[in-house]
Amino acid sequence: MAEIIRSIRGMNDILPDVTPYWQAVETALKQVLTSYGYQEIRFPIVEKTELFCRSIGEVTDIVEKEMYTFSDRNGDNLTLRPEGTAGCARAAMQNGLLNQTQRLWYMGPMFRHERPQKGRYRQFHQIGVEAFGFSGPDIDAEMILMTARIWKKLGLNGLELQINSLGSTEARLAYREVLVTYFEAHKDELDEDSQRRLHSNPLRILDSKNPAMQALNEAAPKLIDHLDDESRQQFDAMCQTLDAAGLDYIVNPRLVRGLDYYGKTVFEWVTNHLGSQGTVCAGGRYDALIEQLGGKSATAIGFAIGLERLIALLETMDALPAVEPMDVYLVAVGEQATQQSLLLAERLREQLPDLKLIAHCGGGSFKNQFKRADRSGARWTLILGDDEVSQQMVSVKTMATGEQESVAWGELAHYLENNK
Ligand code: ATP
Ligand code: MG
Repeated sequence: MAEIIRSIRGMNDILPDVTPYWQAVETALKQVLTSYGYQEIRFPIVEKTELFCRSIGEVTDIVEKEMYTFSDRNGDNLTLRPEGTAGCARAAMQNGLLNQTQRLWYMGPMFRHERPQKGRYRQFHQIGVEAFGFSGPDIDAEMILMTARIWKKLGLNGLELQINSLGSTEARLAYREVLVTYFEAHKDELDEDSQRRLHSNPLRILDSKNPAMQALNEAAPKLIDHLDDESRQQFDAMCQTLDAAGLDYIVNPRLVRGLDYYGKTVFEWVTNHLGSQGTVCAGGRYDALIEQLGGKSATAIGFAIGLERLIALLETMDALPAVEPMDVYLVAVGEQATQQSLLLAERLREQLPDLKLIAHCGGGSFKNQFKRADRSGARWTLILGDDEVSQQMVSVKTMATGEQESVAWGELAHYLENNK
């Protein structure tokens, strides 16, 4: 026998026993986004590699070591998108959407060559949200309130909101020098990753997940103490709105985000229920990106939710959304009855468009078909044998009680409607 071909490590199949949860979560998210006036945008999974290098930044983890990059048959250098902001900004810019304000969302797979572990995969899914042309801080506050509403809609408690401001580009550059001086004075305490980042991306050292780095990072000078006036005012105004709305948050001066395009407001929603991959939602302002990509300067803010982590958290918290069961499993034995069962099923579908009905198909004894009916979780089993066909009747078994009744074909839709 030929060897079975398996999937790529870190790229998961999402099987039918869990897709109903994904669908329910996606529907809830879309409802909230739509209710705030966000519109869906779809853009390609593959883009020119240059797009990601120029936006995310050459010395970030993503561009340095996580991208799936290849040259296609024309020799063009292409990359599977590691995140959505760059593609969304490119699409908005290219299609002239940035002449006015835009509230956009998208959903789909992202690809990063990371070490696979719980909550960290090589193909994972995000729902991403971007608002263009709003300079804040009102939209910053609204966006964070919207994420809080998403958790509420999903019945999810226990996520902690962390916020910070990365300031203007100038303030960040000045702070960078302060930080490098500090870390240079403690060079022997830096781990290997941090040594490497000391001159390429020192802010990212603050984001280290290595416990050995914690004390050093906590004592480091704080960016929030080096903010420019405008960033400070915007941050304070946003905090005031969050306070007035009664939303709890923690100002985390070490929250820096891993992508270069962020400035001013950044935020994350984190949980300690998922081990070390505890960030479920992350985002921030990136006013410099559009210009960096060659467009006319436009302010922007966005966030992304990692769907694998969100669903894992819902599962841990026993808060997975209820999944609608099947209504009817239709059992038929005999040639005549089988054909009639399909016609009856079509008639019911015509009369009750929302009805969820499985017609058995594939024959077999009543006993075997009943087993399937049981397993389907349907509320009713409808039974059709040649006797029922000759009388134009069907036996209706209510699975919860085991009660069985005979109902005329013509009355069936009515019966199901009234006994729901
Ligand atoms: P992390 O610090 O966890 O690596 P990040 O800063 O790389 O996160 P973002 O690029 O901001 O993550 O992505 C937003 C969200 O997408 C994350 O908060 C997380 O929920 C999810 N995410 C990121 N990378 C992965 C991955 N490899 N597998 C699963 N989910 C991921
Ligand atoms: Mg990462």
